[in-house]
Amino acid sequence: MAIGGCADIGSVTEIKRAGKRLCEECVKIGAQWVHLRVCQTCGATLCCDSSPNQHASKHARTSGHPVIASAEPGERWLYCYRDDSFAGY
Ligand SMILES: [Zn+2]
Ligand SMILES: [Zn+2]
Ligand SMILES: [Zn+2]
Repeated sequence: MAIGGCADIGSVTEIKRAGKRLCEECVKIGAQWVHLRVCQTCGATLCCDSSPNQHASKHARTSGHPVIASAEPGERWLYCYRDDSFAGY
């Protein structure tokens, strides 16, 4: 899957799916989220940048896990925070 010149997305061979349909971090603090994303390095399900706590991008910064996939039904894309790169699949 070599798209957009991003080696991180290129190295994803199998898309990790959301285990539970919730943001693990929002649940801990009782917060709300808008959309869900799945970290493609460790499989964590976290909330998007439209959510108040933006856990997916915080996770990317603090853990150095650059690539997320949308966990929304019908959305088939990957995003790399490091390269600001999108790729459909
Ligand atoms: Zn990248
Ligand atoms: Zn969250
Ligand atoms: Zn991760």
